[in-house]
Amino acid sequence: MSISNKSLKIYNSLSSKKEDFKTINPSKVGIYVCGPTVYNKVHLGNCRTFISFDLIVRFLKHIGHDVRYVRNITDVGHLEESEDEDKILKRAKIEKLEPMEVVQKYTNDFREVLLKFNLLSPNIEPTATGHIIEQIEMIEMIIDNGYAYEKNGSVYFDLLNFTKKYKYGKLSNRNLDDIINESRELFGSDEKKNPQDFALWKKASSSHIMKWKSPWGYGFPGWHIECSAMSHKYLGKKFDIHGGGMDLKFPHHDCEIAQSEAVYNENPANYWVHTNMLTLNGRKMSKSTENFILPENLFSGKSDMIEKGYDPMVVKFLMYQAHYRNTLDLSNESLLASEKGYNKLMQSFYDIDILKPSENDSDKYESIIDKCYDSMLDDFNSPKLISHLFELSKLIDDIKKEKEFISKKGIDNLRNYMKVFLFDILGFSNHKNIERKDLSKDKLVEALIDIRDFSRKIKNYQISDLIRDKLNSLGIKVEDN
Ligand SMILES: [Zn+2]
Repeated sequence: MSISNKSLKIYNSLSSKKEDFKTINPSKVGIYVCGPTVYNKVHLGNCRTFISFDLIVRFLKHIGHDVRYVRNITDVGHLEESEDEDKILKRAKIEKLEPMEVVQKYTNDFREVLLKFNLLSPNIEPTATGHIIEQIEMIEMIIDNGYAYEKNGSVYFDLLNFTKKYKYGKLSNRNLDDIINESRELFGSDEKKNPQDFALWKKASSSHIMKWKSPWGYGFPGWHIECSAMSHKYLGKKFDIHGGGMDLKFPHHDCEIAQSEAVYNENPANYWVHTNMLTLNGRKMSKSTENFILPENLFSGKSDMIEKGYDPMVVKFLMYQAHYRNTLDLSNESLLASEKGYNKLMQSFYDIDILKPSENDSDKYESIIDKCYDSMLDDFNSPKLISHLFELSKLIDDIKKEKEFISKKGIDNLRNYMKVFLFDILGFSNHKNIERKDLSKDKLVEALIDIRDFSRKIKNYQISDLIRDKLNSLGIKVEDN
């Protein structure tokens, strides 16, 4: 089971192809993922994106890369469609809070939900408001290079000038004429030279709360520039992977590429990775149609959409049963099926402890482990990985029934690999509802008796008596020897 001679393939949205993954620096990987705009409780669809990238980061680490994972928090500048109001400012007015209270409230919510899903924290989680200087500097460079202009205290990216030298829309594959036509319909401002130009900096009115001093007067940054400025600061001009939800391909990521090309003459990332959407009961999730569920209600069961609450690990298991590039449908039925599948796999993992070793070893597990690795090396194919883990589960059942055989060394290997895939790579946390077999219970009792013996040895009789009384009350007789 060696993966050293196999290569990882990643689907690159830039080429629309699976490509061999080659890092810029040996064994180091820089990855930037667009984080949430913290103006509302985190959407399950966003959770899916971050859960997918957690798998990617965990696997890259597992195969030996030193990963720097940067995921930002957008706390200013994400404008509503009409481009006239900041989402956080709008929310602050509705909730009668300071904008930074809104930011704190929903950043906390975001982190709490991701913790429930047992996701790794990024190495750096930069905020847009913490990087105003870097954004202003980048805008100045874009102006200096002739790809942006100032008008009435706002700065816009000059797309027409840009497209004289570069192609715009590399990810979405839109052509400029289409973009021009689409933009014209939404064109509300007469400041822009052309309707398709996007804002790098917006002038703030005197009553505007979130604003900063700039060479163009008081204002705030546009949304796209923050990711360019922060990814450059922490990962350099060129890094390995840039990711986000599929809905960010256009305009957000196409604008990021344009900004980087305008300053550094370079696409910032070698691989662009996009995750697909999550639907609910076969339809797009939307508050307005009431086809909507919040993560907290999914966990507690407080929703008409589901018959009971589900463990976050079960929800995560469901998400991994679809490949990250495919859509995934969440429903009560799919959650129930996931719960069964997840519990079965966990039970199999604990069942390894009660397998009886034999002299002969069928070695069957080794080829299945190989297939587990091959699945992950093939663009992080989690549904395939899970199907092979079920093969291992079946094998464990067969060994229990003595239809198959495994040696002591084989049992240890099997336990180690199951642990690697379930906990290190898929990132499940130990499940408390799984019934451990009698042997495991005995081990627990043995451990308690060991602790009791030690307590007596160091003369902590309070603890040793407490353990004795608890065990006695459970019908387990403990004798002092
Ligand atoms: Zn971004």
